[in-house]
Amino acid sequence: MNKSAKIVIIGGGAGGIATASSLLNRDSSLNITIIEPSSVHYYQPGWTMVGGGVFNKEVTCRQTSSLIPEGVTWIRSLVKEIFPDENKIQLDSGNHESYDYLIVAPGLKLCWDKVEGLSETLGKNGVTSNYRFDLAPYTWDLVQSLNSGNALFTQPPMPIKCAGAPQKAMYLSCSHWLKQGVLGNINVSFHNAGGVLFGVADYVPALMDYVKKYNAQLCFNQNLTAIDGGAKKAWFDVTDTDGNVTKEERGFDMIHVCPPQSAPDFIRQSPLANEAGWVDVDQATLRHTRYENIYSLGDACSTPNAKTAAAVRTQAPIVANNLLADINNSNSKAHYTGYGSCPLTVEHGKIVLAEFGYGGKLQPTFPTWVLNGLKASTRSWILKKDILPFIYWNIMLKGKEWFVKPETESS
Ligand code: FAD
Repeated sequence: MNKSAKIVIIGGGAGGIATASSLLNRDSSLNITIIEPSSVHYYQPGWTMVGGGVFNKEVTCRQTSSLIPEGVTWIRSLVKEIFPDENKIQLDSGNHESYDYLIVAPGLKLCWDKVEGLSETLGKNGVTSNYRFDLAPYTWDLVQSLNSGNALFTQPPMPIKCAGAPQKAMYLSCSHWLKQGVLGNINVSFHNAGGVLFGVADYVPALMDYVKKYNAQLCFNQNLTAIDGGAKKAWFDVTDTDGNVTKEERGFDMIHVCPPQSAPDFIRQSPLANEAGWVDVDQATLRHTRYENIYSLGDACSTPNAKTAAAVRTQAPIVANNLLADINNSNSKAHYTGYGSCPLTVEHGKIVLAEFGYGGKLQPTFPTWVLNGLKASTRSWILKKDILPFIYWNIMLKGKEWFVKPETESS
């Protein structure tokens, strides 16, 4: 084994920290560097709950310094460019960092500016988004103060992180309005650039029950392109069945926007990218398809799973196992089958827990008698509210692989 092999990890978010911990739990002598610019680490799955008035935003963040595993070097910097043929990366300071093995986990880019007028009006004029830590409380403020009018919820083209989050915001808002007895005065509409409510059909019936209960209007193939916050108007490109696109204008009193998303620029412009811009990895081993000493996981990689922290929880041990197998010249590889999970908060106190892998194959963690993910349930709510945050901070980020110990096979 090459004991001095230097492992560099780009990004100290969910994927970066979890993988560093999983590596160290296998071999505490490893030489690992994490490059992460932010002093604060966010538990993004909590932001839906902040927007629904369930969590304070403070419980969704911690100091990065408190999460970097002992023995890991943290370089507080942004990676500007990757030179995979030279095994080095360039930081925004201009300095270079070389590596023997590279793990790429910088998450994805939220493209707020792809919607004309959006950046200028976010956080005021009734325009909000749970996709930003600082704005999720504004969602809850708006929900509490709205008693009548038009409430719009938007979803951009795929892929996005947590594909259920745009509709989760709608359900939790409606749940509050129903309790307050004002839902009947509010026109709720869900404007989805895609053509279905949720990508895995098995979960749609349970979600449709709530769409009907809340009398929400589903508007498919409608892509938000512009907003004028002051005038309280939003514009959508509406595509009909023949592919013709027309513009539609909608007035709003409140609008929850999920921004368009892409791979980060420095990834899209690097030799690591596939045609769509994501880090091009083998979807089973998570190793780069062209560079054998590079792995990637999380939102930035090309695997066709649901981009979620739940997916990262499964991927991190697989990357750790497979990279160590490379270092040790072993064939003991683990394979990722695409697990991801999306807890759809259909009302305050109930969740439809979607858990699935590649091709939409259901991959429930628990037997149906313990937890039936296809039905709205209180147990799933307790899992999301009380148990998953604990698992994130204390289990996943610490490299303890509950329910996700990779099975290895010689390849
Ligand atoms: P991140 O956790 O985003 O981390 C990326 C890190 O890379 C960041 O710390 C960033 O600062 C750093 N970085 C970026 N660029 C660079 C660079 N150039 N150089 C160095 N570092 C860089 N998931 C679930 O499982 N369940 C849910 O219910 C759920 N709900 C969600 C709701 C919302 C509103 C949002 C926004 C997300 C939700 N997610 C959910 C998705 C989940 O948070 C992400 O899928 C997960 O965080 C991805 O992990 P990651 O490590 O790939 O990226």
